[in-house]
Amino acid sequence: MKTDSPKKPAEKVRSKKESTLRGIPASPGISIGCVHLLQATEEEIQPRKIAPSEVKSELAHFETALASSRTAIERSREKATALAGIAVGKIFDAHLMILEDVVFREQVETRVKREQFSVDYIVFDVLGRNIEMMESQDGELFRERAADIRDVRQRLLRNLRGEGDIMPNEPTEPVILVASNLSPTHALHIDRNLVKGIATDTGGLTSHTAILARSMNIPSVVGLGDLSSRVISGDPIIINGNSGKVLIHPSAESGKEYKQKQDRYQKFMKSLENLREKPAETADGHRIQVWGNIELPLEAESVLAHGGTGIGLFRSEFLFLTRESVPSEDEQFDTYDKAADIMAPYPVIIRTFDLGGDKLHHTINLQKEKNPFLGYRAIRVCLSRRDLFRAQLRAILRASSRGNVRIMFPFVSGLEELREAKIVVKEAAEELAGNKVPIEEQIKVGVMIELPSAAMLADKLSEECDFFSIGTNDLIQYMVAADRGNDMVSAYYRSFHPAVIRMIQSTVKAAHKNNTPVGICGELGANPIATPLLVGLDIDEISTNSAFIPEIKKIVRAMTYVECKRITHRVLKLGTALEISDYLETQLKKKLADLPIWFN
Ligand code: PEP
Ligand code: MG
Repeated sequence: MKTDSPKKPAEKVRSKKESTLRGIPASPGISIGCVHLLQATEEEIQPRKIAPSEVKSELAHFETALASSRTAIERSREKATALAGIAVGKIFDAHLMILEDVVFREQVETRVKREQFSVDYIVFDVLGRNIEMMESQDGELFRERAADIRDVRQRLLRNLRGEGDIMPNEPTEPVILVASNLSPTHALHIDRNLVKGIATDTGGLTSHTAILARSMNIPSVVGLGDLSSRVISGDPIIINGNSGKVLIHPSAESGKEYKQKQDRYQKFMKSLENLREKPAETADGHRIQVWGNIELPLEAESVLAHGGTGIGLFRSEFLFLTRESVPSEDEQFDTYDKAADIMAPYPVIIRTFDLGGDKLHHTINLQKEKNPFLGYRAIRVCLSRRDLFRAQLRAILRASSRGNVRIMFPFVSGLEELREAKIVVKEAAEELAGNKVPIEEQIKVGVMIELPSAAMLADKLSEECDFFSIGTNDLIQYMVAADRGNDMVSAYYRSFHPAVIRMIQSTVKAAHKNNTPVGICGELGANPIATPLLVGLDIDEISTNSAFIPEIKKIVRAMTYVECKRITHRVLKLGTALEISDYLETQLKKKLADLPIWFN
């Protein structure tokens, strides 16, 4: 990466009028400052022939560069861990796995010997093919994996050139970093005192750079399209990590307005600090639970730190996604046990593998499907791959001896899958009990309500399981037939569609008749304007990304149950998603005028 030259000829004709871009808000907060543009300089390494006598020294050079890269990655891991906890440090474990991959080393060695090209070219080419392969797959996780390989390649090439780990052209005064793409390694080298915000053309909410930016509390917006080609270093810019809005060359009025928003935001954040130990209880005594969604066991620490009292969704399929092979039972046990240990005595709901859809893995999803979201996914995979399912259930059951673990099945369409899955749980439990392995015999088993058919059958399903968790991300897409990841139909993906709200209502009512508690673990739970409605619909537990926990608690505590019921009553009479969201917004604004969502 390098900064651009400050005096580009294009600068003369560039407009200084305010313009606005919208991206994905990746790390909250508002930053006002000047652009520091990083331009990608990932050079193409050309093939360079070496003499046969040079092969040995070339391979020795490779070994040295591998060793220095390893040390550097370990240093990054330590830094990330110290900065943001073990879970974030794990990003660099994934880098180490790429660097130390036996197949990669063998390929490089064999090709240098056989083709007699310089090692930097071979490294560039071997990893380049892996990057291409990952980028040709659909889904954020593959893109993320490709970005990790690219990051490791850059580091290794720098070490092959003897440049070490120095990041060129670091800012020397407070700036907002703008880049087409920012690698986790680069993000980690950022000087927190100088980088006041990050804005990138690419990236998503779960990209590693976004995760790092969140842990470093640097306001960030990602997925901005072509921002980096619209600005040069020194341009004034405002980024709003709460809304995803970016203003280039803001006018004097915008500057003033955002300065006020920034002050209010900082005040609001201060007001959340004392909520950690307080329950999510309305002013008239109606209590709900606010829990966290996690993908890595150590994220549980962050859930506790934010005042969460349970894990409502542990997306176990993430065990697959940083690796090539299927995770073993023992490895899974370690992972589940770690989360259970951190959270004890609070509950941890482990969702069985939700592979398929957009979370594809080459060992499972062998065929390309025309409609992966309507295809071989989640419980369907588990019920047809009993080896996989049994190993996972055994691992979960072993971790259940701590007494706080629960099992949840995703993508259940009706009683058939629930009954079949429960039989596998029973068999796995009997097997373990027969071998005197301690387990929780009365382990709670729940169902994700994310298919309309399951919601319609809530009365029946709730007779045969211990809890529900509504997965609104999928429930909405299947109800309104709008792919949750397809920008072309995102206008149809209406979270507040009245049919969705009615379906949540009927699910809760049916489940409560059987005393089955109902949680919500989809993104709707993280939307502040939904909180009073969810309380009024009698949701028992909201599970969300840990960062939102304090805010949700604050909203619950600001309301009364009577008010929430009144709001819900009114919402159920409205006819469109927009009417509902407008109404909810107005109601919440009356109560809490300083929520960050109002700072657009
Ligand atoms: C959901 O569908 O709402 C959910 C929480 O599951 P995922 O987003 O992992 O599909
Ligand atoms: Mg889902």
